[in-house]
Amino acid sequence: MQDLLDSVVDGCREEWQAGRTATYIPELAKARADAVGASVFDLSSGGCSSGDFDYRFTMQSVSKVLSLSLALSVCGEDEVFSRVGMDPLADSFNSIMRLEMDAPHRPHNPLINSGAIVVLSLLPYRDAEERFAAVSDMASRMTGNRSMSVNEAVFRSERDTAARNRSLAWFLKSVGNLDGDVDDILDTYFRQCSLEADCRDLAVLGATLAADGMNPVTGEQVVPPRVAEITRAIMATCGMYNGSGEFAVTVGIPAKSGVGGGISAAVRGRMGIGTCGPALDGKGNSVAGMRILQRLSEELRLRIY
Ligand code: GLU
Repeated sequence: MQDLLDSVVDGCREEWQAGRTATYIPELAKARADAVGASVFDLSSGGCSSGDFDYRFTMQSVSKVLSLSLALSVCGEDEVFSRVGMDPLADSFNSIMRLEMDAPHRPHNPLINSGAIVVLSLLPYRDAEERFAAVSDMASRMTGNRSMSVNEAVFRSERDTAARNRSLAWFLKSVGNLDGDVDDILDTYFRQCSLEADCRDLAVLGATLAADGMNPVTGEQVVPPRVAEITRAIMATCGMYNGSGEFAVTVGIPAKSGVGGGISAAVRGRMGIGTCGPALDGKGNSVAGMRILQRLSEELRLRIY
């Protein structure tokens, strides 16, 4: 596996040149555009890594997998899906238009920004601090990394420039689909997006979902099998923004990307894969990361369809 991974990552090294780092959160523009790395956590043979696998980036939308798994575990699927849909969306991840046009005004799925914000509002915690503690605990248990922390510069940068996410949240509030204090909920959202990870963390996160919710490093059953199953299904249909359909055809495995450049993928019963590459395509997906996943999917016959 190590030789294969080295050759795949090497072969994808220059792919980053076709992408650009996100700039709408000013701090993200400072990411190393040419960082390219990957880790695989195979459920039978363990982990291996290649390239810039220890480059640290913020999870951004990959963190939505954590809050979704947490809400499904704590609130149950009926409550979650009474407030958020489970269908892919052809519009961008922070689109306001669709939310306003649809009735009821329910976000299409839990992995777009409006959906993730509603998911966080369902968690039965007292305030932003308690809510974030629960999300952060889920992050540690899913990745097996007990020392995950928030990149404060990215957190502040997003919080101070979040006009679009604030608009989404206040619109949801105005139509009665966001309970609780809007600023508190957004605080948790910005913090979870700013959690720092590397490829190994995202590989173990994917492996935990691939092992039906049992972290293969710590042996802990982090979420029930049904929660892992739903999360993988939503990743497969909605995880790569409005590029999810094309990704299903070209790569064919459940995955979630983030504008920090990470992707976490879960192949049930086989492995988790984490990739990094902060240079993104126009839809917000890591160009090098997607190419690495495509090559691994071909070489290891990972397609689930
Ligand atoms: N924090 C980012 C935002 O809300 C997450 C977007 C993403 O990774 O897709 O815009």
